[in-house]
Amino acid sequence: MHGARFAYPEGVDVLHGIDLEVYPGERLAIVGPSGAGKSTLARLLAGIDAPREGTVSVGGCPVTDLDPAERRRRIALVTQEHHVFMGSLRDNLALAAPGAADEQMRSALAAVGVDWSTDLPEGLDTQLGDGALELNAAQAQQLALARLVLADPHTLILDEATAALDPTTARRTERALAAVLEGRTVVAIAHRLNTAHDADRVAVLEDGRIAELGSHDELVRAGGTYAALWRSWHG
Ligand code: ADP
Repeated sequence: MHGARFAYPEGVDVLHGIDLEVYPGERLAIVGPSGAGKSTLARLLAGIDAPREGTVSVGGCPVTDLDPAERRRRIALVTQEHHVFMGSLRDNLALAAPGAADEQMRSALAAVGVDWSTDLPEGLDTQLGDGALELNAAQAQQLALARLVLADPHTLILDEATAALDPTTARRTERALAAVLEGRTVVAIAHRLNTAHDADRVAVLEDGRIAELGSHDELVRAGGTYAALWRSWHG
């Protein structure tokens, strides 16, 4: 990302010239106060919005130049919105990977810890949605993660869940997510301190600018904004 500026329609710039390179395979956490532009940055990195100025590239190719289908195969934005579509479980999974074999679908479900699909009498043909099998929030999330496994993008932009899941569900979801993140480039909008701590690098976004960039240890040693955040998180 070079010199990226972005404004919402009829608004002032909310990103003011962001330079950011995401290295293949790294975990980059983005932290900062509410309203700093973290979610906007995530949308630009995922190619959903284009910068008003500057470029956002993945593998040397501006993400907004990729056709949408190709872009989704490479980069996925993972948010807390989990849509379950009317249709069968197979239809819901096929959205991510048209033509995927049943066996691939079953192993994607297994990879994210789904244990509720194997007992369904109609298996992958089970209808989901209103008046059919209604998934709870945790199951819908698992379905979304299984879709990601099938889509197999090299980069995931993760707007971390803050939703109040019960602790057991949260732990299971976290394990499932960890399985999905394995081996991919990950940019995480971090709402929890562990995400930043465990990342390879942390970018601190303030008022649409990157104020600090470095590893957790470097930033704590530097004694700036991140160090203060870390202390208050700990407190
Ligand atoms: P963060 O994720 O760090 O909380 P956001 O990227 O959501 O920050 O927001 C950055 C700024 O852009 C804020 O001032 C916010 O009010 C504004 N903003 C966010 N989304 C929109 C939108 N859809 N339309 C107009 N302004 C928006």
